Amino acid sequence: MSARSEEIAANLAAVRRRIESAADAAGRDPDELTLIVVTKYFPASDVRILADLGVGDVGENRHQEAQAKSAELADLDLRWHYIGGLQSNKAAAVASYADAVHSVDRAKLLGGLSRGAAGRVLDCLVQVDLGGGADPGRAGALPEDVDALADEIARADHLRLRGLMTVAPLGAPPQPAFERLHRLGERLRERHPDATWLSAGMSGDLEEAVAAGATHLRVGSAVLGSRPPVQ
Ligand SMILES: *Cc1c(COP(=O)(O)O)cnc(C)c1O
Repeated sequence: MSARSEEIAANLAAVRRRIESAADAAGRDPDELTLIVVTKYFPASDVRILADLGVGDVGENRHQEAQAKSAELADLDLRWHYIGGLQSNKAAAVASYADAVHSVDRAKLLGGLSRGAAGRVLDCLVQVDLGGGADPGRAGALPEDVDALADEIARADHLRLRGLMTVAPLGAPPQPAFERLHRLGERLRERHPDATWLSAGMSGDLEEAVAAGATHLRVGSAVLGSRPPVQ
């Protein structure tokens, strides 16, 4: 094993232990939880190491980087989760390699996603802004707009409404936001029973997310280390 493989293996084991204890504390089955390792800014060689260590789900937040890595690693059996901001003119391209898009926050994206996914089914999550629009530049649909957007996704060809995603608001405890996401998810499932995913929790707040019912955890730095500076 290379030094990098050993480092990633140790970090991954620690994160898996954190997830198990959080599940234990919440009385949840750890098998209900999917760890998505966020590989943005890290090289394809790290993603290959993760795949060797049994990681099946990876997350990326920049289109060009995600497109290049998914092409380079097409021999691996990985699920690619797109978790970043999305421009409508890039939506079709993202849908051509992503297995799931967590950052659907406006109806304008759906035409492109649907076209790009043609021939397959693309899992879509509505990203919800639970900071009350207080963080400028923070993506996400407002809670009151979630139902209408979810209905449009459910009606669109080649798209499957899977659930909701959020990033905890900056500078506030994450628990209230995650609990709110959970309640929005319950309400969504009254009309869309298959929309069971709740994508919440990152390196710093995965325990709070598990306690609040998250099903998909997006963990980057706790597994791969601090991100290299953007080139
Ligand atoms: C980068 C990123 C993560 C991972 O963050 P870490 O703090 O490194 O675990 C999770 N979700 C989104 C949307 C991200 O952009």
